[in-house]
Amino acid sequence: DDERLLSGNRKPEDIDVALRPKTLDEFVGQKAARENLRVFIQAAKSRGDALDHVLFFGPPGLGKTTLAQIIARELGVGFRATSGPVIAKSGDLAALLTNLEDGDVLFIDEIHRMSPAVEEVLYPAMEDRALDLMIGEGPSARSVRIDLPRFTLVGATTRQGLITTPLRDRFGIPVRLQFYTVEELEQVVGRAARLLDLPLTQDGAHEVARRSRGTPRIAGRLLRRVRDFAHAAGAEQVDARAADLALNRMEVDQLGLDAMDRRYLHMIADIYKGGPVGVETLAAGLSEPRDTIEEVIEPYLIQLGLVARTARGRCLTGRAWTHLGLTPPRTAQD
Ligand code: ADP
Repeated sequence: DDERLLSGNRKPEDIDVALRPKTLDEFVGQKAARENLRVFIQAAKSRGDALDHVLFFGPPGLGKTTLAQIIARELGVGFRATSGPVIAKSGDLAALLTNLEDGDVLFIDEIHRMSPAVEEVLYPAMEDRALDLMIGEGPSARSVRIDLPRFTLVGATTRQGLITTPLRDRFGIPVRLQFYTVEELEQVVGRAARLLDLPLTQDGAHEVARRSRGTPRIAGRLLRRVRDFAHAAGAEQVDARAADLALNRMEVDQLGLDAMDRRYLHMIADIYKGGPVGVETLAAGLSEPRDTIEEVIEPYLIQLGLVARTARGRCLTGRAWTHLGLTPPRTAQD
């Protein structure tokens, strides 16, 4: 069939698309979110109404886009996707909204990065399914209200605190996504290996899963590299040892931390004697945007108990010093 014909020249992105779970049943983990969504989707379908607006928040790579697509599929409606920074003018958003078909899901990634003018257009659209347009200029200008089709807005943001209160209040279904457990990631990796025809043993899947920072996107990325190393070594199957060799070559350490994570920890340890140090100072020292530090690097390090966020700044915990193989300075011990 067509799929087969095309699979020969798949690009990496195509593999990503193929690995994406397509139904709620296929989606691993996030149990509470999944079960709630199932109920709300069923209810909307049986009422013949559009699903209430959904806001996903959580670190990158946890499945926000995937769940938005699944929602559209389970509802049996169309899926349109855009992102906050891409919508430059309120007219761009107006054009998107007026082109929706009845019941469609409109997905806006990085919804916290919309400009205030664009955000204003969303309020009546979300609340009253209406668009307020200004016609003309100066004293003869007047506002015209246009009805919109029924639609479900699915927004995604890395942190709930980034989005303005008026926007947040207009989402009936807020959903916080959590880091995945090792067991859940084993399922994700196992499924991906089957789809990629990769002979991955149970302990191989475990090794990749436990070093994936609780994140399916990273698990997928590591699995592909592990496959490359195994291929180069002519390995018949990928077990924990083969996975460990490949992960070490990629500088993913025993806790699953990457080079950036370790730079962050070393900066606090080596320069600031374990902290406290402010996030702005760390951002400047690491030449990384503050957002990247707060949304990508820190959540997992905090979850692991390596870093603590205090009122005076970031501090390393005893566990972090142990992990780095360093002795904390005496002053930090008190
Ligand atoms: P986000 O939008 O939160 O950044 P995505 O939805 O783009 O994350 O997911 C990133 C990758 O991880 C995708 O390739 C997706 O297929 C995979 N993925 C995410 N969640 C799951 C899951 N629960 N099970 C299997 N794969 C997943």
